[in-house]
Amino acid sequence: MSHRVVVVGAGYAGLSAAKRLARKLRRSDVTVTLVNASDRFVERVRLHQLAAGQRLVELSLRHQLSGTTVQLVVARVTAIDTTGRTVYMDAAPGAISYDTLVYAMGSGGRLDDVPGAVEHAYTVVDPEQATRLRHRVAEVASGSTVAVVGGGLTGLETASELAESHPELRVRLLTGADDVESGLAARARTHLRRALDRLGVSVHPKTFVAAVREDGLSTRDGALFAADAVVWTTGFRTPELARAAGFATDESGRMLVDATLRSVSHPEVYAVGDAAAAVSVSGAPSRMSCQTALLMGRGVADVIAARLMGRDPGPVRIRYVFTNISLGRRDGIVQFTRADDRPSRFVLTGRAAAVFKETVVRSTVRSGPRGEPDRDESDG
Ligand SMILES: Cc1cc2nc3c(=O)[nH]c(=O)nc-3n(C[C@H](O)[C@H](O)[C@H](O)COP(=O)(O)OP(=O)(O)OC[C@H]3O[C@@H](n4cnc5c(N)ncnc54)[C@H](O)[C@@H]3O)c2cc1C
Repeated sequence: MSHRVVVVGAGYAGLSAAKRLARKLRRSDVTVTLVNASDRFVERVRLHQLAAGQRLVELSLRHQLSGTTVQLVVARVTAIDTTGRTVYMDAAPGAISYDTLVYAMGSGGRLDDVPGAVEHAYTVVDPEQATRLRHRVAEVASGSTVAVVGGGLTGLETASELAESHPELRVRLLTGADDVESGLAARARTHLRRALDRLGVSVHPKTFVAAVREDGLSTRDGALFAADAVVWTTGFRTPELARAAGFATDESGRMLVDATLRSVSHPEVYAVGDAAAAVSVSGAPSRMSCQTALLMGRGVADVIAARLMGRDPGPVRIRYVFTNISLGRRDGIVQFTRADDRPSRFVLTGRAAAVFKETVVRSTVRSGPRGEPDRDESDG
């Protein structure tokens, strides 16, 4: 009987893992099945563009998989039975058995951080949420205020994109930290400040949001902050599925894995991307990013292929090359990093950085109108 590899989640990590595995194992008796909630590949790194009103290219997963032996199942995974080694889902075929499972379910928003966020806040974590924000932004009057909460990369990109596409809005960026995005070299931070000023984004550091309301938000020190839309970008949370199935996870629900991305509790299971609590070369937990997801996707394919061929695989070394920040469509920052993610002194800014980022994003999937298959070599 064939060895059945099932990959759950077709984002950057899961799609690259499935394609590379199928290619590496095409001459062996191994089947690769990819289960995903939608038949489209979601370019998550562009969802702030969608929220700002831009049109994104539709990327069909079937096109992405054409020419490979990967079998696509479009269904939402509802549970994993580790004893019976079965994945359950809400659509046909209902259940699939596995010999090896790759858990690549990505992450969602953290709307349960403060009261009222679930009811009143917007996010950009998935296409449905980003579209909801897009509609809200289109319906509010000129001069309305949009408050973006979170001074990390997603908050910066979302605030910049909204401000550039909607100069009629007042965009505010709120962060509990002393400043936005602290992991940048001095020159990059200076550029960031100037770019936010130019775009009219006002930054409110040391502002701790206590609750989100229909008419804005309240802060921990009791102040009210009026806003016509509050966008919540304080980080990502991973699905509960891994914990519910009994896998060893960290406190946030990311699956704990060893240096080969193998579950520390279930050796027939691997985790990649945002859903994995892997350890990077610095010893710190892996950063949730497209760059890391692609690296893990390719790495896990090499590990599984090696083991199935009777070889002992080496560790998947999670190292960083750069942090890419878009500041609208015509500006950006590329902060080159050391392998351990510390910023180096090399920084690219302005239009050159915007072009660099666009080239990198396109290389992760070929976003041509027909959505041709992606390249195996691409880096995020
Ligand atoms: C607006 C925005 C901008 C970003 N910009 C950058 C950036 O510039 N650079 C960068 O490195 N990172 C960026 N990120 C982060 C990056 O998008 C994520 O780290 C990356 O997508 C993680 O890849 P992944 O494959 O682990 O998960 P995902 O890309 O989230 O893919 C997970 C897949 O699993 C599927 N899935 C989930 N649950 C189920 C289920 N129950 N059943 C079936 N399928 C399921 C989803 O449909 C999805 O296809 C950004 C994120 C956002 C939201």
